[in-house]
Amino acid sequence: MKMNHSDDILKHTNCLTQNQMQDYLKNNLNRTEVRKVEMHLASCDFCTEALDGLSDIDSEKQLSATMKQMRKHLHYQVRQSAVQKSKRRHPLLWVIISIIIVLIILLLAFLVVNRSIKDNQDNATIPKQEQAFNIT
Ligand SMILES: [Zn+2]
Repeated sequence: MKMNHSDDILKHTNCLTQNQMQDYLKNNLNRTEVRKVEMHLASCDFCTEALDGLSDIDSEKQLSATMKQMRKHLHYQVRQSAVQKSKRRHPLLWVIISIIIVLIILLLAFLVVNRSIKDNQDNATIPKQEQAFNIT
């Protein structure tokens, strides 16, 4: 089964280059070249293994590209759901926001009331007394 070492070396002198293997994997070779490559592969374990490894790398690249895309998509989904969850999962935030809104409303109400009190004091000190008389 085991090849003689010198045989090995002799065979490997005609070995496929990495470019040839890649072209073969990508179907970039013409028929005669394909035939040559396949003839060599049939007689050379080294190149068959190398080609296997290369096709693995190729599919790994594709896989990692798909994984990247999936991860990107997943990341997007996670981020989206994180946004949605943060709305649901942080009632404290909403308590704070509603407190701030209430404070703003109170401030506005205070300003309005303050202003109308001032208006009353400025314009209507005497009519106010008259009104008081009229009411009683
Ligand atoms: Zn070879």
